[in-house]
Amino acid sequence: MYDIIIIGGGAAGLTAAIYALRAGMDTIILEKLGVGGQIVLTEAVENYPGFPFISGPDLMDKFQEHAEKFGARIEYEEVTEIVPGPSSHRVITESKEYEGVAVIVATGSNPRKLGVEGEEKFIGKGVSFCAVCDGPFFRDREVAVIGGGDAAIKEAIYLTQIVKKISVVHRRDKLRAEKILQEQAFDNPKIEFVWDHVVERVNGEDSFESITIRNVHDSKETRLDVGGVFVYIGHIPNTKLVNVKKTGNGLIITDDCMRTSVDGIFAAGDCRNTCLRQIATCVGDGALGAYFAGEYVEHVKSSRT
Ligand code: NAP
Repeated sequence: MYDIIIIGGGAAGLTAAIYALRAGMDTIILEKLGVGGQIVLTEAVENYPGFPFISGPDLMDKFQEHAEKFGARIEYEEVTEIVPGPSSHRVITESKEYEGVAVIVATGSNPRKLGVEGEEKFIGKGVSFCAVCDGPFFRDREVAVIGGGDAAIKEAIYLTQIVKKISVVHRRDKLRAEKILQEQAFDNPKIEFVWDHVVERVNGEDSFESITIRNVHDSKETRLDVGGVFVYIGHIPNTKLVNVKKTGNGLIITDDCMRTSVDGIFAAGDCRNTCLRQIATCVGDGALGAYFAGEYVEHVKSSRT
């Protein structure tokens, strides 16, 4: 039996591991795919203190090295269910079962899809959720970026280094992205904004051809002849595996100490109902989660003796 089982090896999970291991907790991280989470899909990180400029993968490598320095054990397994118990919890994966006194859910989120005709068919063949991964396939061509948040604007700016022109299609006439990103985008001659439009469908028979967008006011449809489309319209939290109190959007509700509605189950990072989703806030969540999970473990163990 472990003291603490951490589910997810992104910024929140790795930080939780560093804190838990330094507190002497017998800890394991269960990670579905690869360590680093969504941040490895980011070309440039400019707002993580101490690193004025670093790539997402490089920063996450440092997090991993740091956790491993304190003995972090990472198993690559997908957790399907957490079965709560009175003094320990069972964590079920596709092939095994683990038991921990406390569990920290740091499962992050996945990109939200457009949900329009043609999207599924062309994922990876013209429809992308990662400019850093797929941008180079569209060198010197025209592309569309969908969304008006930090991710859409940041990745549109990144794409200006690679592609000829970017049409940012946004469903309103104002961006949600932070001011500094807005200014950079408005000043960039390669970026054009298409306000008050949503994607209606992705066109193409055997290969991607274009997208059709629709004006939200008069429903008029327009074809955008782009080589590809990058979708950045938010994320859906990976929280199906745990049955604790959640918001209507599936975000895990925690208190200030990262406790969920079930004793001994904690949540940290993008999978919880936080008001800001940044590496810095994930790190804070991870530290809090591990600290209070450790306190919980000590309490359970001392009440057993
Ligand atoms: P987000 O902030 O939730 O923005 C999503 C954008 O997509 C919004 O502009 C939204 O429009 C639009 N949208 C949502 N559903 C849509 C739909 N069905 N069709 C068309 N448009 C839709 O998501 P995000 O940009 O992925 O950012 C997530 C979190 O990560 C945020 O907290 C963000 O600050 C953080 N982040 C930070 C950085 C950074 O460098 N600081 C970089 C990336 C992400 P409305 O505006 O109309 O709602």
